[in-house]
Amino acid sequence: MIHARAINHIGIAVPNIDAQREFYEKTLGAKFEGCETVADQKVKVGFFLLGPEGAQVRLELLEPTAPDSPIAKYLEKNPHGGLHHVAYTVDDIQKRLDDLKASGLRLIDETPRPGAHHTQIAFLHPKSSHGVLTELCQPKKA
Ligand code: ZN
Repeated sequence: MIHARAINHIGIAVPNIDAQREFYEKTLGAKFEGCETVADQKVKVGFFLLGPEGAQVRLELLEPTAPDSPIAKYLEKNPHGGLHHVAYTVDDIQKRLDDLKASGLRLIDETPRPGAHHTQIAFLHPKSSHGVLTELCQPKKA
């Protein structure tokens, strides 16, 4: 079991973060937190925060930085962008991955890799999560 503590963020693939900022800021009323490049995944990530203190949801807009980025491949099939993944907050991510693998689930990442905001992340295979690309995300230890 993953023992997900919360939805950490929702990942949305976009061709261009700057072109979509207005929708997220002005239409949805989200707060733009800035961008970060995650070299390992060949993406630029833009963060938007929604909702009241203590019950906030973060949206992660993902823009490819290279033609072989996983997001570039997604955009080939969905040129306008779209919902890419849901990320759940977990503790002890390596143990979660080991447990999932032992239970027969397919994983994209058998060991965690670096995510934005100094997190550790890993993706489950969409075939093992009913078509929804699922990310486990372990926040930076305080
Ligand atoms: Zn993510």
